[in-house]
Amino acid sequence: MSGSRPRSLLFLVLLVLAGCSDQNAGTGTMPAPVQASEALPAITGPVVVYSSRQEHLIKPLFDRFTAETGIEVQYQTGEDGPLIARLQAEGEDTFADILYTVDAGNLWSATEKGLLAPLDSPILDTNIPAHLRDPEDRWFGLSVRARTIAYSTERVSPDELSTYGALANSKWKGRLCLRTSRKVYNMSLVATMIARLGLEQTEAIVKGWVSNLAARVFSSDIQVIEAIAAGQCDVGIVNTYYLGQVQAEKPDVPVALFWANQASSGVHVNISGAGVTTHAKNPAAAQRLIEWLSTEEPQHMFSDLNLEYPVNPAVPPVELVRSWGEFRQDQLNVETAGRLQADAVKLMDRADYR
Ligand code: FE
Repeated sequence: MSGSRPRSLLFLVLLVLAGCSDQNAGTGTMPAPVQASEALPAITGPVVVYSSRQEHLIKPLFDRFTAETGIEVQYQTGEDGPLIARLQAEGEDTFADILYTVDAGNLWSATEKGLLAPLDSPILDTNIPAHLRDPEDRWFGLSVRARTIAYSTERVSPDELSTYGALANSKWKGRLCLRTSRKVYNMSLVATMIARLGLEQTEAIVKGWVSNLAARVFSSDIQVIEAIAAGQCDVGIVNTYYLGQVQAEKPDVPVALFWANQASSGVHVNISGAGVTTHAKNPAAAQRLIEWLSTEEPQHMFSDLNLEYPVNPAVPPVELVRSWGEFRQDQLNVETAGRLQADAVKLMDRADYR
């Protein structure tokens, strides 16, 4: 992993390059504001990314960026919580220029800790719809994941399905499979349901889900899909790319997607996304990388690498993803998932959703 090189060496390189850039830019008296694109300091040395996305999903993108711009990208991968804690502990001394995670809840919690700086970027404002970026421009969605209903094509007709809430109906008793409430994807789904429907109605729905469960909650979306395929249950709630992973292995798996909530708020979506750190040593390169990731070719690569949806509405997803049909995204800003996460966790506990 390129991010594992000795940190002292990287630090020295950054120091030397930072010194050079001051002379080159001739702005020795006043530090340039990082917010304004036209006033960004010169790009100096590698951009360092802390990423909770796995290496095989990010390396091809970073390699392409380096080939196109000559800017080296170094990265450290890890779990969301520890990466954010590390960024916080390192404070001003951090080497990270970018935090890149999945789930808006994680990005929201990084902004709550003051770890991300606002960007002023017409490119990002153009390429990324407003509901998929921070209202204060400290993080930006780069790919979209949709969480919707999966059903057995052998035992369920799509006209029996409508909303996430309707899965609480006793019609589905003993027929529903869910992933654990401990997964942030379900926290975010329930958080947005609280925003849309209120606490009381959401709690009644989650209790209904629990009483309809066909099996103990699963630890992954793949297991939910396999349980539906095996006849253990008839419906479930999953992120769409997991069905894509199963279909890539077994194209005729008897499970299909239904786009939930089309008559009301639309399908719950979340993001993978990134922001420039407050103490970035190379903010100009960091902003350039995030802007580049929002453009056509890398957007297509996101869809190709993980079967996600491009965040940029001008870029179509890959064919397998397109085969699931079009849907309307919930336009609620994804930061809601973070803001109401604690409420969602408490509600799921009260409802005995494990
Ligand atoms: Fe996932």
